[in-house]
Amino acid sequence: MKNLDQDIKSVVVSKERIEEICQTLGERITKDYRDKDLICIGLLKGCSFFMTDLLKYVDTHLEIEYMDVSSYHGSTESTGEVKINLDLSRSIEGKDLLIVEDIVETGTTLNSIIDLLTYRKAKSIEIVTLLDKPNRRKIPMTPKYIGETIPDEFVVGYGLDYNENYRNMDYIGLLKEEVYKKS
Ligand code: 5GP
Ligand code: MG
Ligand code: MG
Repeated sequence: MKNLDQDIKSVVVSKERIEEICQTLGERITKDYRDKDLICIGLLKGCSFFMTDLLKYVDTHLEIEYMDVSSYHGSTESTGEVKINLDLSRSIEGKDLLIVEDIVETGTTLNSIIDLLTYRKAKSIEIVTLLDKPNRRKIPMTPKYIGETIPDEFVVGYGLDYNENYRNMDYIGLLKEEVYKKS
């Protein structure tokens, strides 16, 4: 057993299943974007592991960009404003964009980013997410490409963190209660 495994209560998405998801979604994206001007935009930091593995299965020309944004959550609902911690390195005007996310929960973050990229004149914008928690949605949205739909529980691993830890696990799991109590 690895060190980090000792903090995990149960596996939600196994290493093998993640590999399978990357292959399936990668092949769909390859077909859909064959004749497009594709830029894949990874949302840091959660996207890092998924983006790398997924794009190895996308067999068409594409550019890779990253963004890091935080959304301001108001007391009742999102203001739609985002704080940009890291911005794109190029113009996306007229380009077909694929946003790469680790997990979609309320949809607040993505909604703000889509507004921003629309304002910057993207030609098309779609979302690929490894995980989806549709029961938590506040803003209606359905990502075009979804790896796995999961119940409303907090998961870690494969890019997803708890207090900036556990991102470096090669699978996704639930933390033991005692881990939360420690911090
Ligand atoms: P939302 O869709 O609510 O705007 O936010 C989605 C973001 O919240 C994700 O990109 C991720 O960073 C974080 N998040 C949502 N659910 C989880 C979860 O179960 N585990 C972890 N580690 N982060 C989550
Ligand atoms: Mg994210
Ligand atoms: Mg986080």
